[in-house]
Amino acid sequence: MVHAFLKWAALCGASFVALAPAAFSAPPAPALTQDFRAWRAMFALRAVDAGIGGATLAAALGGLEPDRSILALLDSQPELDRAVWDYLDLIVSDERIMRGRAKLAEHEALLDSIEAAHGVDRHILVAIWGIESTFGDKIGSRGVVRSLATLACCGGRRARYGEEQLLAALRIVERGDQTAADMVGSWAGAMGQTQFIPTTFDAFAVDFDRDGRRDLWTNAADALASTANYLVQSGWQAGEPWGEEATVPRRFDFAATADVHQSSEAWRFLGVRPVLGRSRLQSPRTALLMPVGARGPAFLVTTNFRAILRYNNAVPYALAVGHLADRLAAGPPFSGIWPRDERPLLGPEREELQRLLNRNGYLAGAVDGIVGPATKAAVRAYQQGLGVPADGYPTVELLERLRGAWRS
Ligand code: CA
Repeated sequence: MVHAFLKWAALCGASFVALAPAAFSAPPAPALTQDFRAWRAMFALRAVDAGIGGATLAAALGGLEPDRSILALLDSQPELDRAVWDYLDLIVSDERIMRGRAKLAEHEALLDSIEAAHGVDRHILVAIWGIESTFGDKIGSRGVVRSLATLACCGGRRARYGEEQLLAALRIVERGDQTAADMVGSWAGAMGQTQFIPTTFDAFAVDFDRDGRRDLWTNAADALASTANYLVQSGWQAGEPWGEEATVPRRFDFAATADVHQSSEAWRFLGVRPVLGRSRLQSPRTALLMPVGARGPAFLVTTNFRAILRYNNAVPYALAVGHLADRLAAGPPFSGIWPRDERPLLGPEREELQRLLNRNGYLAGAVDGIVGPATKAAVRAYQQGLGVPADGYPTVELLERLRGAWRS
């Protein structure tokens, strides 16, 4: 499973390399170098215990210096503050749609055989390829071993992640899929045209062209088939769409349907109707998704949407993959209107919201700035008390009301 903090790292991909050129070339501070050498000695023992050969270790870690530019990137999470509509505009661009259609034509025979082998729709595969690495153009240029070793040594709360991923990276080297020197990727260790972190690579990458190597860096066949395999292992159902856009009636009981999974016919009975007329969804378990609440577009999503979330656990990402895939297949843009005049809550505001909800007896869970199921349920309960649509989506206006309620 892709680690949570890759949510945004994967989205930004190689662009960070361009953002920090000065820091990238700076020599490591002496204290950092000392810590790194001590860590390296201890890590080598653990790696040998884990079955990594001495020759691999020496080649990968000998002479390695930490990359302190990575430590400066650890705590920035700009993607979490981006509005869904801005993200979709950026990702599902006309240029990416045009290039994706050209890739579909260029790789038609390959996509035929991957679809036959794995049962994943080609448009989804090409959409993920386009989003993760701009169809293989942007795969990152940092040394993954060096980046992960720096995280493992000196990355604080990311140290465990770094070490686990580094061990997986060394297993990949041992298998002969890639040399340590040529293992390039993002600073967080996302590699190749699929931007797999090493544990994901290790578990799900496939050698589709059967040349003996799982090459996600230069081989489109291996990259696209590995994406398909990962989706299948995450529960992908052949022949089922990711979901579809829908409309919700003016008076709708959001609270009663928040955690409901049912067929599109059952949703239709409640007035939720597909924008394109007849529903294409066969699943008996679709969920209603309204990414920005009652004021924005609505979608019915299937198990396949949840499989895309396993790739990258962020709703805007999965929505962008599904929508780009539909656009590649000549589908129309979304018809629902995004509330572009509404500013999404920033990180500290989301934390304040959670704190205020908790203090007022609405159990929002941990104060972490992540609006998960508990926070949404608390927002719904608060909205029900106010007599406004209980869509569970926290707005600036709602936060202000909550502040007022706490003061009075
Ligand atoms: Ca291969």
